Amino acid sequence: KQKVLHAKHLGIRREMLHSNALKVCDKLQDAGFDAYIVGGAVRDLLLGKQPKDFDVATSATPEQVRHVFHRSRIIGRRFRIVHVPFYDRDGEEVIEVTTFRGASDAPTDEAGRILRDNVYGSIEEDAARRDFTVNALYYDPNAEQILDFHHGVDDIEAKRLVMIGDPVQRYREDPVRMLRAVRLASKLGLTIAPATRKPMAELADLLENIPSARIFDEMMKLLLSGKAWACMKALRDEKLHKHVLPLLDRLLSRPESSAFLQKALETTDARLAEDKPVSAGFLFAALLWQEVELRWKKNEAAGEHAMPALVNAMNQVEAQVEKKLSIPNRYSAAMKEIWLLQPRFEQRTGMRAHRMLEQARFRAGYDFLVLRAECGLADKALADWWTQFQYCDADTRSAMIAGLG
Ligand code: ATP
Ligand code: MG
Repeated sequence: KQKVLHAKHLGIRREMLHSNALKVCDKLQDAGFDAYIVGGAVRDLLLGKQPKDFDVATSATPEQVRHVFHRSRIIGRRFRIVHVPFYDRDGEEVIEVTTFRGASDAPTDEAGRILRDNVYGSIEEDAARRDFTVNALYYDPNAEQILDFHHGVDDIEAKRLVMIGDPVQRYREDPVRMLRAVRLASKLGLTIAPATRKPMAELADLLENIPSARIFDEMMKLLLSGKAWACMKALRDEKLHKHVLPLLDRLLSRPESSAFLQKALETTDARLAEDKPVSAGFLFAALLWQEVELRWKKNEAAGEHAMPALVNAMNQVEAQVEKKLSIPNRYSAAMKEIWLLQPRFEQRTGMRAHRMLEQARFRAGYDFLVLRAECGLADKALADWWTQFQYCDADTRSAMIAGLG
């Protein structure tokens, strides 16, 4: 039976929630339905962290939710959910509303993977089909109560990440839960409970059947979790990288290459901590650069000229990675531009250096050069030259170019 806890005693007050999430709960309850804030938001508040989005779980069906919120839209097929949009001066905020899901008879494929999950059920059933105990907490902002069906509050206090139910069965239903375990543990500073952790190495191969677009989505969440470096190490420690990013093995086993990745990812983590934007193109450029460089040198040794050797190396690496992880065009385009700029930083005579400054990706390319130089993967003097060149006046620039000899 579930525990009913006073939210105030756990440090959660109504005012701490985003007003749009409260509005959704209020209106659904006014219409006679049950409605709770659920999942990551409640968990994050209990851990003293700022939630990044709010999800609502309700007894209303998607059609009933649509009836209460006229601007809302039903999305998704595997999991039908309702998006309720709100508009203010910061743009659009979407509150995701899901109907309580029934637990037992969701259809699965021969591997045990859940195919569709649109059978509605009770709140108890809904709690049982969530992944981790800390994600199965339901907060009613009007009663100011938290419903805890699986000892989630105890696990938050003990800093434990525990799978609800039988971990082996739950990973078979959805292997991506293994990646979620690694991300949530790293991001929230939780320890994966032994029984939740143990089956992962053995079941890692189940990730092979996950579409590469979904793997990419999870990879983005790992990289943008604010603990990207910890996540990449944990991915390899738990042997989950094989079907996600196999080249992590090579990257993390050599100190020089691991230092580069660490620096790149920790810089990203620090930027996220300060609410600064990070570029996914830059992240993937850093993640894959050393593999590109390796092949670039190989192609050159085989007699190719520098630029075609680099372009071929880029295509080779992209083809290799694509099987597991399909990087959408909008990111891979930026990633490749950053790579292509790297040899061009060495060509500074005549008008070349001036033209470089006008490149749309100059900033990202330069930041990447500095990162390489800091880790001994590029000439420090070259990076310093560019640092000075971009900020000095026209006369100094001419002198700098003349001084190249
Ligand atoms: P965050 O949003 O901070 O990354 P989250 O736990 O909120 O973490 P979401 O992907 O937003 O993650 O999912 C919302 C909730 O839906 C989760 O808290 C969990 O209860 C449930 N959930 C998400 N993915 C799964 C899954 N693969 N299996 C079971 N339950 C899931
Ligand atoms: Mg969430």
